[in-house]
Amino acid sequence: MKPNPVIAESDLPTGPRGHVNTLPTLQVATEDGEVVDGVWAAGDNAQIPDLAKGEGAWCAPSAQHAVRQARLLGANMAASSRAVPSESTSTRTWARSRRSA
Ligand SMILES: Cc1cc2nc3c(=O)[nH]c(=O)nc-3n(C[C@H](O)[C@H](O)[C@H](O)COP(=O)(O)OP(=O)(O)OC[C@H]3O[C@@H](n4cnc5c(N)ncnc54)[C@H](O)[C@@H]3O)c2cc1C
Repeated sequence: MKPNPVIAESDLPTGPRGHVNTLPTLQVATEDGEVVDGVWAAGDNAQIPDLAKGEGAWCAPSAQHAVRQARLLGANMAASSRAVPSESTSTRTWARSRRSA
């Protein structure tokens, strides 16, 4: 699925199909893995590694992923403001994600 055109107009680092390049913690990062400070992404416009599927796989554009990512994004942004390390999509289980909603 094509990302929103606003992404191409930005200077955000993108993957091969134009989605915002994002770490499993949902922090935006360059292709080399350098974090863009204070920038986060989730949902259909983000290219997020699917660690459950393994190396080279990306999260599919689905509402299930988007809702789960939104919860993680909020938790990690809040943690980052308290200098607590971010969790990744693989460390946060469904049950835990649902409890934090
Ligand atoms: C027809 C259809 C059926 C689907 N069925 C399923 C399904 O059965 N199960 C499932 O899991 N997933 C389904 N999906 C996929 C699911 O809808 C998406 O993966 C999910 O909505 C992505 O969430 P998001 O928040 O990333 O994007 P969106 O839900 O698309 O939200 C993006 C929001 O940003 C707003 N926006 C856009 N441009 C701008 C701008 N320039 N400035 C400000 N705001 C802007 C939009 O208006 C929108 O409100 C379906 C998608 C489609 C199109």
